[in-house]
Amino acid sequence: MAHPVTLIPGDGIGPELAEATRRVLDASGAGFEWEVVDAGEAVIDRYGTPLPEHVLESIRRNRVAIKGPITTPVGEGFRSVNVTLRQALGLYANVRPARSMKGLETRYEDVDLVIVRENTEDLYAGIEHMVGPDAAESIKIITRAASERIARYAFEYAVANGRRKVTAVHKANIMKLSDGLFLDSCRTVAAAFEGRVDFEDRIVDNMCMQLVQKPELYDVIVLPNLYGDIVSDLAAGLVGGLGVAPGANIGTEAAVFEAVHGSAPKYAGQNKANPTALMLSGVLMLRHLGETAAAERVEDAIRGVIAEGRAITYDLGGRAGTSDMTDAVIERLVAARPRNEAGAGAASLTAS
Ligand code: NAD
Repeated sequence: MAHPVTLIPGDGIGPELAEATRRVLDASGAGFEWEVVDAGEAVIDRYGTPLPEHVLESIRRNRVAIKGPITTPVGEGFRSVNVTLRQALGLYANVRPARSMKGLETRYEDVDLVIVRENTEDLYAGIEHMVGPDAAESIKIITRAASERIARYAFEYAVANGRRKVTAVHKANIMKLSDGLFLDSCRTVAAAFEGRVDFEDRIVDNMCMQLVQKPELYDVIVLPNLYGDIVSDLAAGLVGGLGVAPGANIGTEAAVFEAVHGSAPKYAGQNKANPTALMLSGVLMLRHLGETAAAERVEDAIRGVIAEGRAITYDLGGRAGTSDMTDAVIERLVAARPRNEAGAGAASLTAS
């Protein structure tokens, strides 16, 4: 049976990467019924908002979505669609794996980290105001409920994926109440997993230095929203950059899969951007849907293309366009597909 999935192409390089990813997922052997809905800059004139209600309704109905990046104006204009989407759908866990890939020139060869970022509160709660003309205040919200929920997610993820350790990251030496509460919540949850998963904590500045020097010491890393945002880009840099860093936003009602990177407007429409990060987000989506064999085939095909190094994009040191790299992944995928699955994976497309 085909999986109904909401597809949001997004802004900037989003549409070309979304198209590349849809083609690869259609060739994966799993079947999809795509519901294409638009959000972001392009729809503001039509709907008066970058995130129309029917987009949220589509995700709530299908319970699974994959989205391209969406532009957020800096310092003015509408609130981030990404943050609004995560809050509106209760997508509380942002999971961002960072794993080395053969063929990529990086400082380390064996990085295998999973960043678990709290996705609904902290300084991203959006409570910000001017205090007179020359001072501004942003309020950092940390609750025990959200902190324990994300810590539990990190530990359960560790158990389910055979991981040995969870590291909680904070700045509780300075923000004794807010980050102190986050750390305390992580410790409470860790106690319930004692003997099964190791636990330690690190102050965020020290963590950044340690990750740059000794990434092999770390495994699953759980962080409040802002540190998670920053440290996941650092982790992406360890394994080849934003072009290869996938992500998943997981909630109890829905899951939205997206790359760590943004809309890179300067490369929009040039068939230049690396589709790997969104394709690997598609791999996370296949796993979430229980399509494990298809997920492995797509991941192997992407890794094969990168290891071979013939059809890779500029950011990985190659000259291939987005579509050439996509064709190369599909070629491998089709060759790897079991015979009895030929003809499966037919996709239908609905647009609204
Ligand atoms: P960005 O990730 O869009 O781009 C930073 C740089 O990384 C690019 O200039 C490019 O050199 C490189 N890059 C990123 N993705 C790439 C890819 N797939 N292939 C090759 N190179 C790639 O970050 P930014 O410039 O800070 O943000 C641009 C816009 O994206 C902003 O409006 C920001 O708010 C938005 N954004 C959206 C999301 C999201 O939708 N989840 C995430 C981050 C940023």
